[in-house]
Amino acid sequence: MWAGWQRDGFPEQAVSLRNVPEAGTVGPEELGGAVLLNRVDATVPEALHRAASGVGTGAVRRAATVGGNIVGSTLRCLLPAALVLDARATVLESDSVYDTDLSELLAKRHVLLALRWRAPLVSGYRKLEGEAGGPPPPVVAAVHADGDSPRDLRVAVRDGYEVFSERTPYDPDPEQVLHALAGTDLGALPAVARDAVRAQITDVLARVAEG
Ligand SMILES: Cc1cc2nc3c(=O)[nH]c(=O)nc-3n(C[C@H](O)[C@H](O)[C@H](O)COP(=O)(O)OP(=O)(O)OC[C@H]3O[C@@H](n4cnc5c(N)ncnc54)[C@H](O)[C@@H]3O)c2cc1C
Repeated sequence: MWAGWQRDGFPEQAVSLRNVPEAGTVGPEELGGAVLLNRVDATVPEALHRAASGVGTGAVRRAATVGGNIVGSTLRCLLPAALVLDARATVLESDSVYDTDLSELLAKRHVLLALRWRAPLVSGYRKLEGEAGGPPPPVVAAVHADGDSPRDLRVAVRDGYEVFSERTPYDPDPEQVLHALAGTDLGALPAVARDAVRAQITDVLARVAEG
């Protein structure tokens, strides 16, 4: 943003989120929109931690924020992780602060103050290798959620610039889970992404079984 303002001129008014407390939190069930990606550590669920660690280079992660990645970028490596966590977004309007879901956050490009979710039992995330100059590499996130809600397994995939997510009832057998997902958008992904989904689901279910 700053580079753009230096080039195109500064707005009359701007608000920095840097010192807004909600925007700077890092916890097991919350992450602030102004948090730099290199500060997203193992305090948050593994899927989100791995997603942030895999963005760009160290220099990018020292400058880019959670909100800039999810709302402002086209790559959105953090989005599949936020989707499997079923995260809610706390957003800042000119006269109010309220909670909404991720689809509204993205459709309306609200200012993200923070993400909140219920801590999952197990989560995982993998970013595949990309080709130089090619499309963004697939990323896959999976989570096993428990608690008051029915036990379920959520999977999200970035394929190209599109992100797909599904949820299915928990089953300890990866083949049953994959069978349940076969009829969804995830079943129509390219083979390389489907293989990554299989590996990620198998890994998450194995870790659930280990307790
Ligand atoms: C070399 C390079 C490599 C990269 N590699 C990857 C990658 O591998 N994966 C990936 O996902 N991303 C990648 N990115 C994008 C990066 O993660 C950031 O998303 C991007 O740089 C935006 O950074 P920023 O947070 O400083 O946002 P800014 O530059 O400050 O803002 C960018 C846009 O986001 C909006 N925005 C910023 N904060 C918020 C907020 N809290 N709520 C709502 N909107 C907001 C701004 O209004 C603006 O429109 C890369 C970027 C670079 C430069």
